[in-house]
Amino acid sequence: MNSYVERVLENLKNKYGNEKEFLQASEEILVSLSPYVDKHPELEKNGILERFVVPERIIMFRVAWVNDKNEVEVNNGYRVQFSSAIGPYKGGLRFHKSVNLSIIKFLALEQILKNSLTTLPMGGGKGGCDFDPKGRSDMEIMRFCQAFMTELCKHIGQFTDVPAGDIGVGAREIGYLYGQYKRIRNESVGVLTGKKLSFGGSLVRTEATGYGLCYFTLEALKTYKKTDFKNKRVIISGSGNVAVYACEKAQQLGAHVVAMSDSDGCVYDENGIDLALIKEIKEIKRGRIKEYAERKHCVYYDKPADIWQIKCDIALPCATQNEIDLNSAISLVNNGCFMVCEGANMPTDKEATAYLLKNKVIFGPGKAANAGGVATSGLEMSQNSLRLSWSFEEVDKKLQDIMVGIFHNIYDVAKNELGNEYDLVSGANIAGFKKVADAMLSQGIM
Ligand code: NDP
Repeated sequence: MNSYVERVLENLKNKYGNEKEFLQASEEILVSLSPYVDKHPELEKNGILERFVVPERIIMFRVAWVNDKNEVEVNNGYRVQFSSAIGPYKGGLRFHKSVNLSIIKFLALEQILKNSLTTLPMGGGKGGCDFDPKGRSDMEIMRFCQAFMTELCKHIGQFTDVPAGDIGVGAREIGYLYGQYKRIRNESVGVLTGKKLSFGGSLVRTEATGYGLCYFTLEALKTYKKTDFKNKRVIISGSGNVAVYACEKAQQLGAHVVAMSDSDGCVYDENGIDLALIKEIKEIKRGRIKEYAERKHCVYYDKPADIWQIKCDIALPCATQNEIDLNSAISLVNNGCFMVCEGANMPTDKEATAYLLKNKVIFGPGKAANAGGVATSGLEMSQNSLRLSWSFEEVDKKLQDIMVGIFHNIYDVAKNELGNEYDLVSGANIAGFKKVADAMLSQGIM
C-alpha cells in the first residue's frame, strides 16, 4: 500500500475508531486509490487525501415533535455536507432507527465518488434521522417531517445542498419536507429531488435507481459474458424503492426473478415474483412481505439473509449495508451465481467482497451500479432550473446513456490502468476520485 494512503488511514482509525461503517468505506476507498496515488505526488503535497476523508461540515440537530398520543418525541437529525468540490452537496435523507453519524458519514463519502461518476456537477452529502417510520400514522409522518425540515432548511438550498430520499424517505416524505421548506422560506425552488410530478418532480426518478442498476448489469453481462438478462435466474433483496424497480426492469429484460425480501424475511417463488402483488403489499399497504407467501404458493423464510441461499445466476442486493456476509457469499458461489451488482449502498461486507472477487464473480460496486438514482436527481435539478419537464422516454434514454457510460468508464480504468478488467471496485473509486481531486487541486487549500 502507498505510504501516504497508509498514514491517512492510520490517522482515521485513531480518530474515528468507533465509526465502524465510515471506517469500512474509507478503508475500501483509500486502499484502492493506492496505485493512483503512487503516480500522483501532487496529491500528498496538497493534502488531498486528508481533506477528502474529512467532511466540510457536519450538522447535528434535535428533532422534537408530538405523536398521536400527544407525547413529545425527540430524535437525532444529521446532515453531512462532505464535499462541494464539483458541485452543490447532493445525497439522500435516511429515516431509520439504525441511523447514526458513522452511517451518514459512510453514505456521504460514497456519494462523493458516485456523484462524480454520473458526470453531472454534484458534490457529496447525506443526511437522516434515527426516527423509525414503521407503524406511524400519516399525520405523525407529516409532523415529524415538518419538525425535521424546520431545522434542516437553514442549511440547504438549490445552489448549496439538495437532499433526496433514501431508506424510509419516499415520495410521501419528500412531499411533506418540500411543503415545509416552501412554507418557511417562501420560495418554490428545486431544493429537494424525488418530488411528485405535480410540483417539479421528474419522470423516471421513482424508477431510476432500480432501472439504472439493470442497465448497468446488462452492460456488464454484454461486456464480460456476451449475453443479457434473458432467462437468467435473479434474486433481489429488499422490496422497497430500489428493489421493486430493479425487479420491474429485470423482468422487462427477460429475467426470471425468483426471490425478494424485507427486514423480516424473504419469499422464494419458483414461478417468478408477481411484482404487482409485491407493489400492492409494500407500496400501497406498507405491509410485510410475509403476506405474499400467504397469498401465493411459494416458500417463506423468516430470515432475510436466507435469500442468499437460493440458487441464482445474478444477485442484486437492494436492501441495506452489510447484508451479504462471507457465509452468504460462499452460498452464492456454491450455487453458481456469477454476477453481483449492488443496488444498495455497501450491501456486501469486506470479506464477502474479497471472496466473490477471488471466485471470479463479476462484481458491480454500489457507487457505480446504483448511481442511476442520483443521476436522475441531477436531471430533475436541470429540469427545475430550466422550468421544463422532459418526457419519460427522454429521461430514460439519458439514464441509460449515463449508466452505460459509468460502466465503461470504470471498466476502462480497471482494464487499462489497473490491468485487471474484473476490479470494478478500484475502477469505480479511481474513476470517481480523479475528477474530485482535480477540482480540489484547482480550488486551493480549504
Ligand atoms: P426503502 O426504504 O424504499 O426500502 C428498503 C427495503 O430494504 C425495504 O424493503 C426494507 O424492508 C428492506 N430491508 C431493510 N433492512 C433489511 C435487511 N436487513 N434485510 C432485508 N431487507 C431489508 O429504501 P430504498 O429502496 O430507497 O433503499 C435501499 C438501498 O438502496 C439503501 O442502501 C439505499 O441507501 C440505496 N440507494 C437508494 C437510492 C434511492 O434512490 N432510493 C439511490 C441509491 C442507493 P422493511 O420494509 O422491512 O423495512
